[in-house]
Amino acid sequence: SGRVRFEDVHFRYHPDRPILEGISLEIPAGQKVAVVGPSGAGKSTLSRLLFRFYDVDQGRITIDGQDIRAVTQDSLRRAIGVVPQDTVLFNESIAYNIAYGRPEATPEEIREAVRLAHLEDFVSRLPKGLDTVVGERGLKVSGGEKQRIAIARMLLKDPPILVFDEATSSLDSRSEKAILAALNEVAARRTTLVIAHRLSTVMDADNIVVLENGRVIEQGTHLELLARD
Ligand code: ADP
Ligand code: ADP
Repeated sequence: SGRVRFEDVHFRYHPDRPILEGISLEIPAGQKVAVVGPSGAGKSTLSRLLFRFYDVDQGRITIDGQDIRAVTQDSLRRAIGVVPQDTVLFNESIAYNIAYGRPEATPEEIREAVRLAHLEDFVSRLPKGLDTVVGERGLKVSGGEKQRIAIARMLLKDPPILVFDEATSSLDSRSEKAILAALNEVAARRTTLVIAHRLSTVMDADNIVVLENGRVIEQGTHLELLARD
């Protein structure tokens, strides 16, 4: 389960400026789709519509055939996990940040999430390991580490659908590889929408959607897209 469909979706923030103009796309259950396109194309707007931060003006979005407007906010929140571009961390321990919203998570489960999110090296360098406090009043955490903490959180949350908004900030190639590996762990067997900024992420997706000016201008596997050019 977890099949996502956008059906002729139209959306505007302001009446005089259309942002999405008839988006149709399908993410089969368990597949990973990368959305690419220039800044301002409407990529983030797609993800905001999926978790109903805003509602579509026309058309519909379905999960397993059901209009998302027909499900409760609670079940939508359970169904969709979001890894934002810039994760805000609490001034609390790494363990707290990872297990946020999952009071039942055991220390073993947290350690396993740390391993799969490729955070082991990071945690082993911290004075108090998973108990180290992060954030403004604690340890500074890089953008790449923040995203991996958010990925670890998603491994515990275990939603059928994942939205990953890849950071645009530049990362060293080691962090990039670690994030891609972590993303692949959390995306495995999950329906995943990636707002992609890196070529490696795009090449790794089952399908690529190219968005421009609020329209899908190309769609296919990377081999199909290469063959068309
Ligand atoms: P992308 O993620 O592809 O860079 P966005 O979906 O963030 O694009 O934005 C698409 C367009 O919508 C941009 O022109 C952006 O300025 C505009 N936009 C985004 N969010 C808002 C908002 N909350 N209110 C008004 N316009 C917005
Ligand atoms: P992103 O596309 O990753 O969300 P942006 O820089 O486009 O990053 O937007 C940052 C925030 O500002 C978002 O919450 C977005 O909704 C809002 N935003 C973007 N463009 C506009 C706009 N033209 N008017 C109002 N809010 C906007």
